[in-house]
Amino acid sequence: MPIVDLKAFLERANSKNDPFDYLIIGGGTAGLIIAHRLAQNLSHVTVGVIEAGTYHGSGSVPVIDTPGLFGRSLNNPLYDWAFKTEPQVNANNRTLVLPRGKGLGGSSLINYLCYTRPSKDEYDALETTFNNHGWNWEELIKHMKSEHFEEKGNEWLGSDSSHVHEPHEQIKLTLPPVWPPTSSEAGEETLSLHDLTFQTMDNIGIPPNPNPTNGNNIGYARPLICTDSKSGIRSSSVSGYLEPILKSCTNLLVLIDASVTRVLFDHSDSIRKPRAVGVEFRVSGHDNNLQIQNVRREIILSAGSLKTPDILEHSGIGDPRILQQNGINCIAELPGVGSNFQDHPAVPMIFEVDPKYPTLELLLDPEEFEKHQKLFTEKQEGILAGGLSFSLTFLPLHHISDITKTPSNIILDKIQTETEKYVETSNFSEEVRQGYEKQCQLQMKWLKDPRQAQIEIVCAAGFVGPNKDSQTGSKKRHLTLTAPLMHPFSRGTVHHHTAIPDSNETFPPNNAFEPKINPRLISHPTDYTLLMKGVECILRLTQTEPLKSAIRGYASPSELSTIDLDKLFKSIEEGQEDHESKSRLEEILNSHIKNVVRTVHHPIGTAAMMSKEDGGVVDKQLRVYGVDGLRVADLSILPFEVSTHTVSTAFAIGEMASDILIKAYGNH
Ligand SMILES: Cc1cc2nc3c(=O)[nH]c(=O)nc-3n(C[C@H](O)[C@H](O)[C@H](O)COP(=O)(O)OP(=O)(O)OC[C@H]3O[C@@H](n4cnc5c(N)ncnc54)[C@H](O)[C@@H]3O)c2cc1C
Repeated sequence: MPIVDLKAFLERANSKNDPFDYLIIGGGTAGLIIAHRLAQNLSHVTVGVIEAGTYHGSGSVPVIDTPGLFGRSLNNPLYDWAFKTEPQVNANNRTLVLPRGKGLGGSSLINYLCYTRPSKDEYDALETTFNNHGWNWEELIKHMKSEHFEEKGNEWLGSDSSHVHEPHEQIKLTLPPVWPPTSSEAGEETLSLHDLTFQTMDNIGIPPNPNPTNGNNIGYARPLICTDSKSGIRSSSVSGYLEPILKSCTNLLVLIDASVTRVLFDHSDSIRKPRAVGVEFRVSGHDNNLQIQNVRREIILSAGSLKTPDILEHSGIGDPRILQQNGINCIAELPGVGSNFQDHPAVPMIFEVDPKYPTLELLLDPEEFEKHQKLFTEKQEGILAGGLSFSLTFLPLHHISDITKTPSNIILDKIQTETEKYVETSNFSEEVRQGYEKQCQLQMKWLKDPRQAQIEIVCAAGFVGPNKDSQTGSKKRHLTLTAPLMHPFSRGTVHHHTAIPDSNETFPPNNAFEPKINPRLISHPTDYTLLMKGVECILRLTQTEPLKSAIRGYASPSELSTIDLDKLFKSIEEGQEDHESKSRLEEILNSHIKNVVRTVHHPIGTAAMMSKEDGGVVDKQLRVYGVDGLRVADLSILPFEVSTHTVSTAFAIGEMASDILIKAYGNH
């Protein structure tokens, strides 16, 4: 059985005849795919995985398995790292909590299950702009072959999606049956808040997208979710890649509850580069750190965008200016490590709605919960099956400017100047600056392109966020509309915190080693401008029928109730602006953005796949520059943020990395 105890793991790792050929750090989304593929395709090699969290078997933890309970595993240290950021200057100095999955399956175990893909051009830019030959739409899609779409009780807006979802057995994708069903038992039509939103989108010229995963994601759609239609439960890298081989596989050993602190190198050959041969790690209950020293082939770092740069720096790989601060000896000078952090900043707005519309808040009523639990268990339907959770809309700048009545050129004109100033004040190294400028050129091109989404509107039927009403037993119903920015211009950092003590010292408490994360949220003024446009789009939607008639009030920001929005929007429409109300609205939205802006859990870019001269950390074969035997395979390799939720890309990176490793093994 692959999950073994420490003794068995160390015995195999240190065995003279049959030590690990490959060691994977992090059994998360990408890490478990690589473990599966290597162990299955190369039956004569031995693969080890070290995962910091534990194993939660599929079907054993309702808050993980049940789609409609998304979000309820967050902040629980059993499942979630819940990293804390440095205070964010542009967010009223708030410290944000960044959830990341902890345990086998990583973030694919705690995410919100939506399965989306970016535009074709975005994946193609990995190859054309950053010279990563073989990393393009066609190849990445081929490597998503393991994701299998199973239609359940719905037409996916009438489309034929078979050409992008080939039938394989790993990650199951389902379009859950809509809740409530379109007509009630009494024969009276009951539309869901999602349908109302879609009709409203139609009325302001936003098109539906019948097949949003085929390279054009513009428009509105209900997303596929990562669930198995037969059981209704979450499909993750554990259920798809590990559990099918748990009993049969003898060449894969997985150690859980063990945290890698650094990679160890062999420096004995003074002519060749240092070679990764092992790791140092900690296991709770052991005061001292433990080591594995003789990995025969390669070490693969898949600890996710927030821990991968931390482990690289502790291993002596990074910006010497940063390593020196804690006396870490630099073995590979790569200023890009941890310096290209990006995530989708987002602003939620929460509206109180007519209580006749069902929302996720129904689950707060024990009777309703029981009813939906029965529906879910017996038929895989209802709110718990994900039938009410999300709908997603991706908008290019020209749609945003049509909706907000702000001509695109006004938005575009300032960006170049703002970017030059941003570079001057950002303390980038020469290499990181060069890579950043390339990314900005691409982003500016995409801003003018009607096929590239700039803002997403995430519609959730319910109060998404800490809801004070729910604690007071209120029966109010809500709609949360969130505007994430797809291609932020701001760049943040993730660096190690303190040096790791020597092996004979007692380790301080766990969180002393958490990385220092500074997203520098909306530090580039363009991000602020674009987010404001996203927020205005949301307001326009709620001022348009039929959604308008469903809105009963403003929960966040509640100050909106002090303005006659109806009158204000009409006056803007007629070109006779009410300046006083408009500036009051701007004031409210300004402070709302600062009060609530957060990220939507898609961090990337902290060990980017770009040339070394551009601040890259890995080459197109995912090899870390300046050392041998070490690759990175997780979302930290993505150089720029994509207009999508990121799990599909993490799956593809896992599959691409597996192919690269298997090919390299053959060539050895
Ligand atoms: C709350 C939340 C909601 C999300 N919702 C969606 C969504 O609806 N749709 C979507 O497409 N994407 C979503 N995402 C994003 C998506 O799930 C992630 O981007 C993706 O799963 C990341 O994959 P990864 O392989 O890069 O890292 P992870 O899956 O995070 O894997 C990293 C693994 O490394 C382990 N690890 C870390 N440090 C160490 C160490 N020192 N030693 C050993 N192991 C270590 C971790 O415990 C983890 O298992 C969401 C993410 C979160 C957190």
